[in-house]
Amino acid sequence: MCSVGDSFGVELEGGMESHKYLCNHCSKMFKGIGTNLKCPKCFSKDIKCVE
Ligand SMILES: [Zn+2]
Repeated sequence: MCSVGDSFGVELEGGMESHKYLCNHCSKMFKGIGTNLKCPKCFSKDIKCVE
C-alpha cells in the first residue's frame, strides 16, 4: 500500500502504518497515514510515497 490515489479510498484512522511522502511541488518530506493526504507545507496533493 504505497500508492497515492488508488482504489483504496476508505478512510481509516488509528492502527495504520505511516509512510513517508515527498511533495512533488515543494519537495517537503513528511509522514502520513492513510489516503487523501496533502502536503502540510503547500497543501498540494501532488505527493509520492518514498518509504
Ligand atoms: Zn508541498
